[in-house]
Amino acid sequence: MKIDRLEIYHVKLPLVSPWRTAYGEDAEAHSLVVRMSSGEASGWAESTPLYAPTYSPEGAPSAFVVIREFLAPRIIGQEIESARALNERLSCFKGNYFAKAALEMAWWMLEAELQQKPLHQLLGGTRTEVEAGADFGVQDSVDLLLEKVQGAVEAGFPRVKLKMKPGWDLDVMRAVRSTFPDLTFHVDCNSGYTLEDLPLFRQIDRLGLAMIEQPLAHDDLVEHAELQRQIGTPICLDESVKSVRHARLAIQLGSCRVVNIKPGRVGGLQNALDIHNLCAEQGIICWVGGMLESSLGGGICVELATLPNFRYPNDIFPTAHFHRTDLTETRLEFGPGLTFQPSTVPGIPYRVRPERVAALAVQQAVVTT
Ligand code: MG
Repeated sequence: MKIDRLEIYHVKLPLVSPWRTAYGEDAEAHSLVVRMSSGEASGWAESTPLYAPTYSPEGAPSAFVVIREFLAPRIIGQEIESARALNERLSCFKGNYFAKAALEMAWWMLEAELQQKPLHQLLGGTRTEVEAGADFGVQDSVDLLLEKVQGAVEAGFPRVKLKMKPGWDLDVMRAVRSTFPDLTFHVDCNSGYTLEDLPLFRQIDRLGLAMIEQPLAHDDLVEHAELQRQIGTPICLDESVKSVRHARLAIQLGSCRVVNIKPGRVGGLQNALDIHNLCAEQGIICWVGGMLESSLGGGICVELATLPNFRYPNDIFPTAHFHRTDLTETRLEFGPGLTFQPSTVPGIPYRVRPERVAALAVQQAVVTT
C-alpha cells in the first residue's frame, strides 16, 4: 500500500484515579494516536508511553516530536507492503519503540481494513476468548488493598497483580498471602529495586507468587539472571525487553522465565509476534501487558492476546475501570466470564471518534505527500 497521509495526535486521557507505581504517579494517560491513510482507506492505532519518561526513556511529548520530525517523513509517500518493510525503513533510528509502534500498529490496522479481516486473523491468533487479570496499584492503606483483592476474588478473576515499591513490599505481600492463602498473584516492581535487595526477594520467594515482574533496572538483563539463579519464583521481564534481540539475550542469559509483551514497548505488533514465537519455542510463558490504553489500544491488545503462547491472564481492562472518557464509539468491556472476545468486524475493533481524538489532543500534526 502507498502511505498517502498521516495524522498524528498526542492525546491526554484523564483517569478515574491516579495510577501509583514504583516510578511515580500518573493522573492521566498520554497516548500517541495515529491515523494512517492509503487512498480512501485508513487505520487508527494508539501507543501509550505515558507523559514523562518514567516507565521507559520515552514520554508522549518526545515521542510525538520523533514521529513528526523523523519517522513520518521516512514512510510518507512510500509503498509499504509489510510491517517488516516498515520496520526496515525506520531501522536507521535507534530505540524510540513507542513512537515506532504508533506507526507500525496503524499499518496493521490499515492492512486489516484493506483486507477486510479482523486483526487477529492477520496476526494468526487462535484463541476465541482472552483472559484478563485484576491489577491494583499502590493503595492508601493495606486494609484498602485487601478489600480490593477481596472484590477481585469474589468477582472470579483468575489472578491478581499488585504493584510493589520500596515501603510497600514485604509486609503488604505477607498480609495479602495470609489473608488469601490460595490466591494466584504476582508483584510488579517496575524496576524499583537492586541486587542489594536480595534478602527481600528471598523473603518474597517464600510467599508462593506466580512471578516477580521487573524487579531490577529497566535496562538490565545480567543482574536479573543473577537474581533468577538465587530464587525459585519465576522472574517476568517487562521494561528490559524492548526488542526481539533483548528477548533472545534474556533467554540466553536465563534472566527470566516469563515475558510480558506490550506492543508499544517493543516497537509494534510484528516485534510482539516475533518475541511471542521465540518465547514459545523456548518454553517461556508470555502475557500481554497494559499501559492504560483507551479502547483503541486495548482493542488491539485483545487481538494480539489471541496468540497461543499468551498463557497467563493478561493486563487488559474494561476501559471504564481506569478512564473517565474514551476515543471510541463503544468501549472495551468484558464479555462473559471476565474475558474479552476478539473482534468480528474487519479493520479497527473499536471504531474511533475522530472528533473525540481531536478534542483530547494536546498536540497534532498532519503529514501528507
Ligand atoms: Mg510491568
